[in-house]
Amino acid sequence: MGKYKLGIGLGMGYGQPNERVVKAVAAAGFDACFTGWVEGGDVEGWANGIARAGLIYQSIHAPFGKVDKMWEEGDEGDAVTDMLIACVNDCAKVDVPVMVVHPIIGMDKHDPTDLGIARFARLVEAAEKDGVKLGFENVEGAEYLAKIMQTLGHSSAVGFCWDTGHEMCYNFSADMMALYGDKLVATHFNDNLGMADSNEVTWLDDLHLLPFDGIADWAGIMARIDRHGYAGILTFELTCKNKPNKHTHDAYAAWTVETFAAQAYARAVKVAALGK
Ligand SMILES: [Zn+2]
Repeated sequence: MGKYKLGIGLGMGYGQPNERVVKAVAAAGFDACFTGWVEGGDVEGWANGIARAGLIYQSIHAPFGKVDKMWEEGDEGDAVTDMLIACVNDCAKVDVPVMVVHPIIGMDKHDPTDLGIARFARLVEAAEKDGVKLGFENVEGAEYLAKIMQTLGHSSAVGFCWDTGHEMCYNFSADMMALYGDKLVATHFNDNLGMADSNEVTWLDDLHLLPFDGIADWAGIMARIDRHGYAGILTFELTCKNKPNKHTHDAYAAWTVETFAAQAYARAVKVAALGK
């Protein structure tokens, strides 16, 4: 099998206990996994469980529900910054090398501010101190990622997390790797059907399907990975959950988490085989 280690996010949407999901992922053949994070959560317990299963704890996905506040005046933005710093500290505590961060949330937002950059600079400083890489992810509102990369990209703690699905449904298929591929520290590989309406960017198009169940060009994706000499883990971010009033995931929802993990691994192997 190719040179890439393969990982997957544990949040696959089956609502099963963490231990069962970790076991399913290891049994499927994956080398690595990532998790979300909650303030005050038992990150050491998770790390121990992941290690016991023989998996690498590749990254923690930081919360992003209020990350837009970081760009706006007010105490809430400071509180969100402090929360992200606590998440960085937890990564360091359990030797997780990468924290994935969304630069923004909100389809109608397009105005990155200096205040936001000042707050992200505080986060970057904490990451530098802790030896954790921040994987800033391509999401909606690409202006925010661009501003962070322009102003803070000189830091060795600032990296890029490439979400292949977001590129198609949020970034109008602009080549994010051409912009930030040299800073790649993590991948969120997933598939979707592109934009249902080519004029409207919507969360409803962000399907996170298994590779080859959508329209992503996986050979092209792996060619871009190889072009940038990425040697890290290929991580997949997939869900069994339908978006409201959609049925794209009905087949997955009928599976167990064990079947889903096994299917995901088979697809991941197929994707990795397209690389050099
Ligand atoms: Zn993602």
